Amino acid sequence: MSTNVGNNVGNVELSFDRYLKYDELGAALRALVEAHPTMAELGTTGCSYEGRDIWVVTLTNRSTGPAADKPAMYVDGNMHAGEVTGSMVCLYLINYLLSRYGRDEEATWLLDHRAFYVCPRVNPDGAEKYLTTPFMLRSSVRPYPGPEVADMPGLVAQDLDGDGLIRQMRVRDDGRGEWKISVRDARLLVPRLPDDRHGPFYRLYPEGLIKDYHGEPFPIRESQWGLDMNRNFPSNWSQKLRGGGPYPTSEPEVRHIVDFILAHPNIGGLQAFHTSGGIIFRSPYVYPDEQMDGYDFATLKSLARRGTDLTGYPDVSSYSGPYAATIVDWAYEHRGIFGFTTELWDLMGRAGVKDMDYYGKPNPSPAETEAANLKVLEWNDRELAGQGFKEWTVFQHPQLGLVEIGGWDPKFVRQNPPPKLLEQECHKNALFPLKHAAALPELAVEQVEVRCGASGSGGLGIDDAVFAVEAVVANHGYLATNISKKALDIKGAPAVRVQVKLGPALSLLAGETVQDIGQLQGFRDGQGGGMWGTAPAHSAARCGWVVRLLDPTAPPEDRSISVEARQEKGGVVRSTVVVG
Ligand SMILES: [Zn+2]
Repeated sequence: MSTNVGNNVGNVELSFDRYLKYDELGAALRALVEAHPTMAELGTTGCSYEGRDIWVVTLTNRSTGPAADKPAMYVDGNMHAGEVTGSMVCLYLINYLLSRYGRDEEATWLLDHRAFYVCPRVNPDGAEKYLTTPFMLRSSVRPYPGPEVADMPGLVAQDLDGDGLIRQMRVRDDGRGEWKISVRDARLLVPRLPDDRHGPFYRLYPEGLIKDYHGEPFPIRESQWGLDMNRNFPSNWSQKLRGGGPYPTSEPEVRHIVDFILAHPNIGGLQAFHTSGGIIFRSPYVYPDEQMDGYDFATLKSLARRGTDLTGYPDVSSYSGPYAATIVDWAYEHRGIFGFTTELWDLMGRAGVKDMDYYGKPNPSPAETEAANLKVLEWNDRELAGQGFKEWTVFQHPQLGLVEIGGWDPKFVRQNPPPKLLEQECHKNALFPLKHAAALPELAVEQVEVRCGASGSGGLGIDDAVFAVEAVVANHGYLATNISKKALDIKGAPAVRVQVKLGPALSLLAGETVQDIGQLQGFRDGQGGGMWGTAPAHSAARCGWVVRLLDPTAPPEDRSISVEARQEKGGVVRSTVVVG
């Protein structure tokens, strides 16, 4: 696939064949914003636990209106430390829109009519540790549950052979060993069958050293970085959630996002980029699909389908796992907006494993697992010249004696795509939030008509100086202005408000200066019955006023009427006419 996006911006070369560290990502974002000063702004949601900036790029063409007056999409990545592909997809999205403005119809329209708030690296501390050390960690570098974890005994994962990665150790143990070498590929370990008595058998550990070693048995120590930022949002939070923190929004990175989204009520859609698996997680989180409002479920599925069209990744309910208190859970339950969590990078799918997807099949048989893993090894040999898997290599372990270290590259094969496949992953996934943004509600003042009272208008006219003014306010978006039924339930959808402003040469005789006209449906709502027997959506309303022209000789600006329509999610639009 040629995507033609790698380019130079200022003195920074943007390429999507490697993962950027904090300073490099910051330089790329600054260069992009400096190269497009009318379209992009660089800010932050706040600072991380260790004091790094959590950048947010605001994208919109400011000459067509400020970001706050436009329907907006929030996009983030890399909330989990090692899921650095998410940052690169966000960076790709920023560059894609900016570099195509004026050349590409969709990008131009989106920047003219929408705002994007893109936070490429929610968790800069964790990402930096992941990219600059051998360590793997879930999210924050803040020790959790507490610093005492670091003093507990047991095997601590670390890079012993100096290859920069923490892989696996296998230790021969014909008595207790749980694993044996596959007869089909000596690199692969398969489960020892229930009746297997003939070794060799192996025990399998993370590569590492044992703190306070006094011989076997010893525990595998839990990570000292036990926090999970995507279980720390204030929705369906519970103390039982693994890594959920001491209370919702206890982590500064999470609190900053919540504050940011609350401070930008024009955000009507949300996209979070994670890895891995090649699926699109969606609501609901703590109840099954059947218990979700039917209208909201159908809307959510119709948006998700566009993601599947673009990426090939299926949408999956988040109810199957302990996924509560995530950003998408919060966005729907507390803001009434739809969000998606894309798990980027489908290693199994790449390797041609179609019948046993990563999250799909419960309890695959040992034979099915072996067949799938063999396909991944074959793919590694074919596509990566075998470099993704380190052959088992004898190592003199200071505590366990002779062991073998080997296995998959956990970072840039398992958790993230190998660099040469990164750009493809970025391209197809960056497109989905663009479609979601295009579907947001979008107010329009379609027409403002002025009729002189003397010429008719149902007897409203009294004399030549009296005018009837009518405006049609409409929603041109796919989604309703309230977006979801949930938003109505939680009183999170203020009405569309129409306001007239009269020039000083006019006075209002009838009609309200400010009128709330409720919600306007989107074109989604006219598709309910299928082609036959459907009814068009209620996506427009007519408002009327009667005004008197006090001074027909006044300059046009003094005789003008401005009709403004605004709603949190639908944006702010105005139309002006001159009377007389
Ligand atoms: Zn994640």
